[in-house]
Parts: sequence; structure tokens; C-alpha cells
Amino acid sequence: MPVESTRRTAEALSAIPGLEVAEGMPLACHTRFGIGGPADVFGETAGIESFVSALRFVRSAGLDFVVIGGGTNLIVSDEGYRGVVLRFRGGLLEARETHVYAEAGAELQQLVDFTIAHGLKGLETLSGIPGSVGAAIYGNAGAYGHSISERVRRVRFTDGDQLLEFENSQCEFRYRESVFKRHKSWIVLSVDLELDAADAVELRATADEILKIRNEKFPPTMKCAGSIFKNLLAANLPPAVRERVPQSVIREGKIPAAHFLEQAGAKGLSKGDIHVATYHANLVYNAGNGTARDLCALIAELKRRVFELFGLELEEEVQYVGF
Ligand SMILES: Cc1cc2nc3c(=O)[nH]c(=O)nc-3n(C[C@H](O)[C@H](O)[C@H](O)COP(=O)(O)OP(=O)(O)OC[C@H]3O[C@@H](n4cnc5c(N)ncnc54)[C@H](O)[C@@H]3O)c2cc1C
Repeated sequence: MPVESTRRTAEALSAIPGLEVAEGMPLACHTRFGIGGPADVFGETAGIESFVSALRFVRSAGLDFVVIGGGTNLIVSDEGYRGVVLRFRGGLLEARETHVYAEAGAELQQLVDFTIAHGLKGLETLSGIPGSVGAAIYGNAGAYGHSISERVRRVRFTDGDQLLEFENSQCEFRYRESVFKRHKSWIVLSVDLELDAADAVELRATADEILKIRNEKFPPTMKCAGSIFKNLLAANLPPAVRERVPQSVIREGKIPAAHFLEQAGAKGLSKGDIHVATYHANLVYNAGNGTARDLCALIAELKRRVFELFGLELEEEVQYVGF
């Protein structure tokens, strides 16, 4: 944005009670990759009303904006974002019998731990997935054969004008997809979940086991986004490719993208400070001073190799900001 409109936007947003506003905020500080140039204007709040007011303002002013959560699934351009970046930190969690209410700014792990502490089953396999509840709904986060959508009853969101509510079926959840991913201006505010009563000690043991495995695969300090590419639905593959995939590789109807990447020689590839892990072909990380430019170049190289070998278009699970 031109300097003058950046200043005016920052001033107008600063008038919203509870919203902390900064100009030129380096987005590298807000992404797990540790990559990303400055946002013209950055606003964050733990208050749901402040957040909604900020969204109404940017929408009514016709400004480009993006909402981020923990930044664990983002590739932000080295040039940053020309517009307004908003972040909601509101993390209220409430349980009534088997119903749980969660604000979108809660960390998913806090929600998982909260449900386990209340002896509620259904989210324990999501242990260790970083990021916020809002983004987990947006991308239908999941692991170990389960996705958050299985437990969602209702999602409250705003289109920047009205406050709206969708039942589960209206959210159009699929593998790493939801209606919110297709309507980027629909911003999740809170969610109601329905869980089952269970033994808290057993749930904790399951979660701890998963956390242990995950921490080995994704060391907590690793600058990455988890898996770069979505896994592939076996049913959608061309028969000639599917025939070449051993049955043992197919899990819950999906073939890990890593299966194809590995054969394409992805493991250990690098571009500048961006590397593909030597032990996991779908894990790309920043070894220190990586750039978005190198990250995008390496991703393009991986896609090219898999396309040449199998005729398959890999689809990124990560989301791009500022390109
Ligand atoms: C080590 C590691 C392991 C991972 N493992 C898994 C895994 O097993 N399964 C899995 O599903 N994911 C996994 N991920 C990816 C990531 O954790 C999820 O995608 C997570 O849901 C992103 O949350 P976030 O708050 O960091 O979102 P961000 O990265 O900040 O944003 C992701 C997207 O969500 C949108 N968004 C954010 N908040 C909202 C909102 N309130 N309303 C609407 N849209 C919103 C953003 O605009 C953006 O497009 C992993 C990531 C890492 C780093």
C-alpha cells in the first residue's frame, strides 16, 4: 500500500479498542518457516469483538487482507504482504458435558489437552498438530486417520459484514478442505464440538504416544510446515499410476505424497538453505537463512520431478501469502 494509506489504515485500526496495530511487521516472526517480509499493517487481538470490528473495517474499506493463526502452514513472500494482516488470539475454551466451545484463536494443542483433561474423546489423535483452532477448521486438520471435522457440530464465522453460523454439513469438509478454504474472506470465529465421554488417563496415554512419535519426525524447533504436499486419494489416481503403487502404501484410501517424492529423488535435495529432509521426502525445512524464493523454487522442482515420473500434479497443503 502507498505510505499514506498504510498510515491512515494503521491509525483507523488503532482506534479499535483491544487491537494492537503495527506498521511494517516482519512476517518471518509469525511463521514457523521463519520466512516472510513485512506486512504493511499488522493487527492482533485476543478480543472477538475487536477482531470482528477489524474485519468489518478492512472489508468496508476494500483493503486487501489476510488472517493468520500460528503461521505453521504458511509460505510468506520475501517481499511480505501489501495490505492488512490480522491475527486472532482469543482462546476461550468451555465444556458442558460432551459439548465443547472453542474460540478460533485457541491453540489446537490447548483444545486437545482441554478435552483430554475433561475425559472427552475425539481429538486426542490430533495431538501435536501445531497452529490454531480457526486454521484447523479452515484446512480440516487431521492425523492418524481422524480429522477435526468428525467432531465439529457448528462453526461461527464472519464474512466481514454479518456474523454467520454453519452446521457441519454446510462446512463441506473433505480431506484438508472446507468451505472456508474456498471463501478466503469467511473467517472462523469459534466452533462447537461434540465429543464422547471416555477415560482421561487412557486418552492422555494415546496423546502422549502420538506426541512422542511426532516430536521425533518434526523436532519442535524445526522451521517447517509439516507436510508440504497433500497426500493423494487413491481413487483419483490414473489407473496406470495406481497399479504401480503397492497395496501396503495405501492408508485410508490415501497414498502419501512422500511415496512419489521419494522415487523422484526428493530426499536430501536442497536450494540455498531450504532442504528436503533426508528421512522424509514430503518434509521441507529452513536450515537457517532460507528465503521464500528458494523455498518456492525447491517446491517447483519437486512438483516437476513427480510430474515427469508419474504424470501427477502434487497439490500444496501449505498456503501462500503475498505472492
Ligand atoms: C511440524 C508440523 C506438523 C504438522 N502436522 C500436521 C498434521 O499432522 N495434520 C495437519 O492437518 N496439519 C499439519 N500441519 C500443518 C498445520 O499445523 C495446520 O495446517 C494448522 O491447522 C495451521 O494452523 P495455523 O494457526 O498455524 O494456521 P496458519 O498457518 O497461520 O494459516 C493457515 C491458513 O489458515 C487460514 N486461517 C487462519 N486462521 C483462520 C481463521 N480464523 N479463519 C479462516 N481461515 C484462517 C490462513 O489464512 C491460512 O490460509 C503441520 C505443521 C507443522 C509445522
